[in-house]
Amino acid sequence: MYVGRTFATREDFKTALSIYAINCVFKFKFTRYQKDYLVSECDDKRICDWRVFAHKVGDSEEYEVRKAKLDHLCNVETRSRFSKHATSKVVAALLRANYANAYCGPRARDLPECILTEHNVRVLYWKAWKVKELAVVTAQGTDESSYALLPVYLHVLKLANPGTVYKLETVRDDNGDDRFKYVFVALGASVRGLPYVRRVVVVDGTHLFGKYLRCLLTASCQDANFQIFPIAFAIVDSETDESWRWFMQQLSEIVNDGQDLTFMSDRNSSILKSIPEVYPKAHHGFCLVHIRRNVKAKYLKKSGLPSLVWRAGSMYRKKDFDDEYDRIKQRNVRCWEFLEGIGVENWSRAYFEGERYNLMSSNIAESLNKALLPARGSPVLALIEFIRKMLGRWFETRRKRIARTVGDNPIAVERELLKRFKGGLGMAVLAVGRWDFEVKPKEGCHFHVSLEKRTCSCLEFQKLNLPCTHAMAAAHERGFEYKLLVGDMHKIKMWQPTVEGAILPVQDPAEVEVPEDIRVMCLMPPQTKRPPERPPKLRIHSAGEYEGKNKSKQPNKCGRCGGLGHNRVTCTNPLG
Ligand SMILES: [Zn+2]
Ligand SMILES: [Zn+2]
Ligand SMILES: [Zn+2]
Repeated sequence: MYVGRTFATREDFKTALSIYAINCVFKFKFTRYQKDYLVSECDDKRICDWRVFAHKVGDSEEYEVRKAKLDHLCNVETRSRFSKHATSKVVAALLRANYANAYCGPRARDLPECILTEHNVRVLYWKAWKVKELAVVTAQGTDESSYALLPVYLHVLKLANPGTVYKLETVRDDNGDDRFKYVFVALGASVRGLPYVRRVVVVDGTHLFGKYLRCLLTASCQDANFQIFPIAFAIVDSETDESWRWFMQQLSEIVNDGQDLTFMSDRNSSILKSIPEVYPKAHHGFCLVHIRRNVKAKYLKKSGLPSLVWRAGSMYRKKDFDDEYDRIKQRNVRCWEFLEGIGVENWSRAYFEGERYNLMSSNIAESLNKALLPARGSPVLALIEFIRKMLGRWFETRRKRIARTVGDNPIAVERELLKRFKGGLGMAVLAVGRWDFEVKPKEGCHFHVSLEKRTCSCLEFQKLNLPCTHAMAAAHERGFEYKLLVGDMHKIKMWQPTVEGAILPVQDPAEVEVPEDIRVMCLMPPQTKRPPERPPKLRIHSAGEYEGKNKSKQPNKCGRCGGLGHNRVTCTNPLG
């Protein structure tokens, strides 16, 4: 500290002064706190005239030390209160430099020690937690400490968000240490909204890029406004039969089995096995986008087969499907055999036995993966925090939209209605009963619409719970209110309760009660050896995606273990 020293901001100056006080062992306070200057004086200013005066530099954000009297006359009693300056924020600033260089910082339980030795401050263990939150979670390579803090974090997460369901699975290693195996989290707000979304659950797995090569499993539904409604997620070692079965078992705590339940997936073999085991009554549909991609990768791109497959799969009536399916068979028998092998009842809407509504793909899961991309390399704790914050933002945005909406229908439903209304213009409508109509499009055969039963012989009306073009034409003819044709599942009154639950930040564990067994639990990172079952390059949905050529002649260097000749995706070296 000297006259003429400048700081980038006012906050920087305050932090630097606190660190200075910690290192020199004294206690000061700000006696003048003005908009463009600060005066700090010794705590015991009757005896001691230590004083630092800093002023804002012109119009900039900078602060400059203008006057400084740095000698102390105060006694030990006063100076011993120096540790009051070691607030979480200041300690975080102290440590940030240490973390920036080291690949992995000290674990939380080591923090008080290192702060004590370097800066004379005694910090409580749980203050160290907060320091972690502020300084470390965003820094690189803190996976180990992240696992150590996980048990307490999950506990305070549930305290802040009642109704949250979580499960932490551990294994004991040869040394008697508890190591991380799986974690499952369903936030209270999601659990609360669950009764108001349609029972079509999209399950998907995606790879994480962290040091311990985890895999994220997710389960999501779609809300009344056709937006993704995440229910639960889990971090596991990889997509195996065991991990998916475990995930499904945890999920069954909040989503019960039933004929009315449908799962959607990308046909991952472990998902295929685990669903009938845990959910014997539920239906299981396959993502049509993935199947189209498979067809595109297997057969000539210009064959037109992918779009034929898409058309066939999207058909509502069995007869229409059969026509398209025959066309595929005539064009390419091998492609037809491939589709037969998948099972028509699993991928086509017409033959599907459960309800899948408008959901023909697991695209919502892929958009969730995309949203999570920035956090996919983060330590486990930071990843869960990222998801919690993201869902909090999503829910808040939706609450605002709902508050702004006029009428009964969410905005996306209104858009669908308009599209269908336009499609129905110019159709010939003939009333055949009070609420029954024969509707004839410009081309093709006629359809029978019943506005009372909310059905149409094209089947779209009853399958989507949204009026088809024919129904819109009939309603237009009769002067029937369009909104009466929309199923309850797409109304605001079903949308609103899905986002009623708030998603709250966790509290400082020092301020709440944490049971002894959780507090003392010392969780170690998983012992990793990459399992051979399913390396990511064999993922079904990546087939047919563009594969760039590796032009580099130099051998790859692994970002995980540092070895040569392979990369972090193909790395098999054990860690930890
Ligand atoms: Zn003093
Ligand atoms: Zn219709
Ligand atoms: Zn490696």
